[in-house]
Amino acid sequence: MASVDVRKVRKSYGHVEVLHGVDIDIQEGEFVILVGPSGCGKSTLLRMIAGLEEISGGEVAIGGKVVNDVAPKLRDIAMVFQSYALYPHMTVEANMGFSLRLAKAPKDEIKRRVGEAAQILGLEKLLDRYPRNLSGGQRQRVAMGRAIVRQPQVFLFDEPLSNLDAKLRVQMRSEIKQLHQRLKTTIVYVTHDQIEAMTMADRIVVMRDGHVEQFGTPLELYATPRNVFVAGFIGSPGMNLIEGRINQDGQPEFVANGGGRLPLPPGCAVEPGRKVIYGIRPEHIALDDAGVDVEVVVVEPTGAETQIICRIGEDDIMVAQREWLTVDAHDRLTIKPDIDKIHLFDAETGERI
Ligand code: ADP
Ligand code: MG
Repeated sequence: MASVDVRKVRKSYGHVEVLHGVDIDIQEGEFVILVGPSGCGKSTLLRMIAGLEEISGGEVAIGGKVVNDVAPKLRDIAMVFQSYALYPHMTVEANMGFSLRLAKAPKDEIKRRVGEAAQILGLEKLLDRYPRNLSGGQRQRVAMGRAIVRQPQVFLFDEPLSNLDAKLRVQMRSEIKQLHQRLKTTIVYVTHDQIEAMTMADRIVVMRDGHVEQFGTPLELYATPRNVFVAGFIGSPGMNLIEGRINQDGQPEFVANGGGRLPLPPGCAVEPGRKVIYGIRPEHIALDDAGVDVEVVVVEPTGAETQIICRIGEDDIMVAQREWLTVDAHDRLTIKPDIDKIHLFDAETGERI
């Protein structure tokens, strides 16, 4: 395993800059996930770490050594692509051993390393099969096996679960996490799915439009998002974000542009009249007789919880309760945000206050 340092990295295609100076320091053995909307530059950055894209500015170092001009095959990394890119005319065993054969490793060593990887991934019984005779999940495992046999310093994954159905994705998520716990190899993993990021990563890089919006642990991103974008991107269902201002006539409170009123944290030091965005996660709102009166718009039971979209003034606010509630559209509820879990953002800049 090795550290990966990305320092002020830029990427341009012609005159168009798509990465604008990205800084990420990844520790040895860390599992770091790059997450963000489609087109924000995740794959480009990963491919630059792999050496598949030229670096327009800044530096990438692996294990403390700058690799800007080092060929991909000399970087001691292994990459797993979304498409898996298995060789259709080769068996699972041949696919997994391919890179070692290319490197002219001794036959018995190839057999041993393929065997070990197959055992870790539960592929022992499938070694003689061809990719066309495997399920999507099995192919995905072969692609990972091919990376594992190389015993690289760093694994690079680009959306490896995107082609799998929802149930298999959840299963593979936990398998990849267990794999990391066992091998302890540094992993840089790209996904657009924030749940994947939250469930697997040691630390998460949230990207947007070629910038890093925040780099932190899942808990840091969940509890203290640095801006409105991260607040809205991390968490499911998403955080309620309501525009309005601080009112200080008497007890300080938040007044939404749509007219609704919500409580503020005690000792809230935001100056009166300031335009803010009020953030509260659906799971941090209780039903409480002493709360704010709202009207139910839509009820969405998931089984584990009931998600209720309510109308407050002219805004919608989602409330999530960890139980099955029998409420209907047009019912009236009284809701109470957990006063310690309120997030305030500047309405102009979107930055956390
Ligand atoms: P992501 O993986 O986050 O979806 P990408 O890294 O693939 O995003 O792309 C980032 C941006 O770079 C996009 O705007 C994309 O259109 C652009 N881009 C990627 N590859 C090329 C290329 N070969 N030539 C020109 N633009 C590219
Ligand atoms: Mg991509």
